[in-house]
Amino acid sequence: MMAHTIPAATGFLVSAQQGGDQGPVPVFATRGAHETVAESLRAQTLNAVLVHSGSPEGAMARSGDTALVLAGEFYNREELLTLLPADADAGTDARLLLALLGVYDLHAFRLLNGRFAAAVALGERVLLATDHAGSVPLYTLPAPGRVIAATEIKALVPSTVRTPPSGRPVAEARRVRRVPGVHQVPAGTVLEIDVRTGTAVPSRTWVPPVSRRILPEADAADAVRGTLERAVRARAGTTTPLVVLSGGIDSSGVAALAAAHTDGPLDTLSMGTDTSDEFAEARVVATHLGSAHREITVPTADLLGQLPYAVWASESVDPDIIEYLLPLTALYRALDGPARRILTGYGADIPLAGMHREDRLPQLDTAVAYDMATFDGLNEMTPVLSGIQGHWSTHPYWDREVLDLLVPLEAGLKRRHGRDKWVLREAMSTLLPHETVTRPKLGVHEGSGTTSSFSLLLIDAGVPEADVHRAKSLVVMEIFDRVAVEGVPPAEVSTTDTVHRVAARLKESQ
Ligand code: ATP
Ligand code: MG
Repeated sequence: MMAHTIPAATGFLVSAQQGGDQGPVPVFATRGAHETVAESLRAQTLNAVLVHSGSPEGAMARSGDTALVLAGEFYNREELLTLLPADADAGTDARLLLALLGVYDLHAFRLLNGRFAAAVALGERVLLATDHAGSVPLYTLPAPGRVIAATEIKALVPSTVRTPPSGRPVAEARRVRRVPGVHQVPAGTVLEIDVRTGTAVPSRTWVPPVSRRILPEADAADAVRGTLERAVRARAGTTTPLVVLSGGIDSSGVAALAAAHTDGPLDTLSMGTDTSDEFAEARVVATHLGSAHREITVPTADLLGQLPYAVWASESVDPDIIEYLLPLTALYRALDGPARRILTGYGADIPLAGMHREDRLPQLDTAVAYDMATFDGLNEMTPVLSGIQGHWSTHPYWDREVLDLLVPLEAGLKRRHGRDKWVLREAMSTLLPHETVTRPKLGVHEGSGTTSSFSLLLIDAGVPEADVHRAKSLVVMEIFDRVAVEGVPPAEVSTTDTVHRVAARLKESQ
């Protein structure tokens, strides 16, 4: 079965408990209808609220003493089905997971290539799992007798009132700022929680490769093209996908592969601001592929005003990440109409060290090792960004098989013949115009002028240039506290007011 326009569910709040009832009604940034479900098992009850777009039954599964909910989707269904009897009940990804759990127990999560968060109640245990990249964030407060978990912090916070934290750390999990007892389930991990005691034991289901692989140029380029093609095909869905296109090599590569797989023209969309855009470069690609192309211009003042939406959606406190996500937030918010399946070129630079304008191979390898060890918890790939408008985004470069190929490639294949991301450019060289293949990298935060206009806003408010990065961090944290922790709607939070408060505080502390 092919992926639908959007997955059966795109978010959830669950509460698994020994007796007791459902908690408060949650508020999600992810747009969608809410379905409340309750499954009574022998030793516990699983209550859930699912965010869905019409068929929530596809996001849950129950058999015997096991019940589960799933937000997101799998990309290796065909492969997974070969592990089960031909007549297995695996028509949805949730039922497929249930069947795999019956065979492999929690090790089933090691088999999955997907974009998902899952919560499973089985016997006296609760399993909370993320995909290999933790691309759908998942948060939990495991307490004795009651485990709560949700795909958004703001959806979980009201339930924490009735679930006093045990005070115990959750091994290997990061604490959420200002919400006592709440932890983020690490990327590529399943947490096995005893619902009686709230004790959580983590098992890693994926780790980024640390060794390096040597391949001849042509073999490396062929492998990249073939693997990326499979990742794009698995994500393309049954309706025409939309590719958010900058005209850089990453999104242009995805667009070219998606166009080859789509009957009729592909849809592409570019955003720019009144100060900066990449419209001309994106148009070259759109014309080459014959896509139905659209451009959206967002005034810079509006863009900065949407900072609270970027933080509300991503629940990230990293100011650099927020600068990458802000232009995309503005793009998705401007994308009205029915729910779309959106493909991006996001994340290619991490395994390929594309952000490092650097010729020395040791530095590139250090950057890849560092970035692959520290991406967790940044929420860069969160589906909530487009979910606030009811869409579903997915990122082929962070497919598990693509990462398992790109990360270990020997650094000289990433930087070669004076070009960054050489192996990717080579892989795409017959599908795209020469000028696109050889175009230097321009980050989304640069192409849209986001970094410079955010800096200017702070400098105009009186922040000395040397303090700008720290001030950005303070602004983002203050907005996070409002929209993620205190549940204030983003429309009620002003970027300008926050900037002025932070500027005044910095002045006082000098
Ligand atoms: P390159 O890294 O070579 O610049 P790229 O522009 O495709 O390639 P990024 O700059 O890392 O990649 O941007 C990340 C992703 O965000 C892009 O692949 C694209 O999907 C999306 N994106 C970036 N800028 C825009 C834009 N101006 N309009 C629409 N989508 C964009
Ligand atoms: Mg770019």
